[in-house]
Amino acid sequence: MVCFCFLVDQRRKLTSSKPVAGMCSRCGRGASVGDMKTVTRFCYVPFYWRSWKAIICTFCGAVLKSYR
Ligand SMILES: [Zn+2]
Repeated sequence: MVCFCFLVDQRRKLTSSKPVAGMCSRCGRGASVGDMKTVTRFCYVPFYWRSWKAIICTFCGAVLKSYR
């Protein structure tokens, strides 16, 4: 995650997830397909967010595959 300036930060949130066939390449646990939300904040005020889908590992947080 890149921080452009200390006033700007980005938060990634998992809004929902369900198990999917597959394994995490990092820790070997089950993967999940989840609805993600990325919120970009400026001075702690959210000004931009987008939702996206991704196959993630809920255990270690690795993003295995993302869809736009
Ligand atoms: Zn994992």
